[in-house]
Amino acid sequence: MKLARRVDQLEMSPTIAVAQEAARLRAEGRQVIDFGTGEPDFDTPLAAQEAAHQAIHDNLSHYTSAHGLAPLREALADRYRRHYGAQATPADIFVSAGGKMVLYSLMQTLVEPGDKVLLASPYWVSFPEQVRLAGGEAVYVPTREEDDFLPRAAEFERRLDQRARLLILNSPGNPTGSVIPREELERFVELCRARDLTLVFDECYEEFVYSPRRHETPARLRDRLGDRLVIVGSCSKTFAMTGWRVGYALAAPPLVQALSKLQSHTITHASNVAQAAAVAALGTEEESVPAMLREYEKRRALMLDGLRRLPGVTCREPHGAFYVFPNVRGLYRRLGVEDSVGVARRFLERVQVATVPGEAFGAPGYLRFSYALAEEEMVQGLERLHQLLA
Ligand code: PLP
Repeated sequence: MKLARRVDQLEMSPTIAVAQEAARLRAEGRQVIDFGTGEPDFDTPLAAQEAAHQAIHDNLSHYTSAHGLAPLREALADRYRRHYGAQATPADIFVSAGGKMVLYSLMQTLVEPGDKVLLASPYWVSFPEQVRLAGGEAVYVPTREEDDFLPRAAEFERRLDQRARLLILNSPGNPTGSVIPREELERFVELCRARDLTLVFDECYEEFVYSPRRHETPARLRDRLGDRLVIVGSCSKTFAMTGWRVGYALAAPPLVQALSKLQSHTITHASNVAQAAAVAALGTEEESVPAMLREYEKRRALMLDGLRRLPGVTCREPHGAFYVFPNVRGLYRRLGVEDSVGVARRFLERVQVATVPGEAFGAPGYLRFSYALAEEEMVQGLERLHQLLA
């Protein structure tokens, strides 16, 4: 069958591909430990589940606004004001089916064919594909392991030219867990202001930053960038609601309207039931999020300790999200492989431990381990790796 080139050239999301391979092995009866998937193992808050039942009972079953449900947009604007002191009204909020769909819609709305979009590498897998789908060109700005994989405004500036239109930043970052500090964020904001660039800031992991670091967001600097700033957030990680598909953006009202216009011809709107659940989830934030954060903090320590004890593996401390990104080059000879895809393959074949190779994120030499899985499984997975490498 002849497919359109834009899709034919796409790769299946490598993180989803790992999950599928792990599922296939499980179906064969093998007991796989899956460090590959980036999704919380916690339950969606009970209040959100109940609100969804109530929404169904109340027959919230018909088409609603393409922008998102009014109570959700109000709750989100309120949250931006309370958490970050940001200027935000419901007219600044756009809701879609997950952060991924928000980002896809943004690329379709802001990128013209031939435009350059700068992003830090290692990058989240969907950024470059979404840029390409919009006809843009992704420009990778390398970060350094010794610098905690931090995106640096000066490095971005060196790669700017006439075609540069947009910067994508992601903090806390997937796959590295890097957290952009306030001074660097200020430099990025200044760069975008001075060079008339739009800043898309993906903070889908905003709640998962480990003490003493703090999440810094340009949301509080909206007055400096005006309509050149878009913040992207999601209920997926914050409330363990990945499957519900609720994400959102804080943006200038004309952009919110443009996004809604596009959405009216694509998914129409995010599911009403899921949006009603998201309103309730936001109401639980004070209890549900700290409980998850404490758990992730414990798991992060366990994970770091376990990985650092593996011969041939080095691992920097990530400050946010729920991933560690160890350097595994020291394992190539020991495992008889040439790259980190080979290491990931050996781990899966020999001890049924699933990880995502750095190649998926433009960073060969590393593996991404998610620690959003139950502690017993994590311990067992680390133990299997110890035995394999001993
Ligand atoms: N942004 C980043 C950096 C992510 O890692 C993800 C999901 O893994 C998303 C956005 C999108 O998440 P969702 O579409 O579930 O909101």
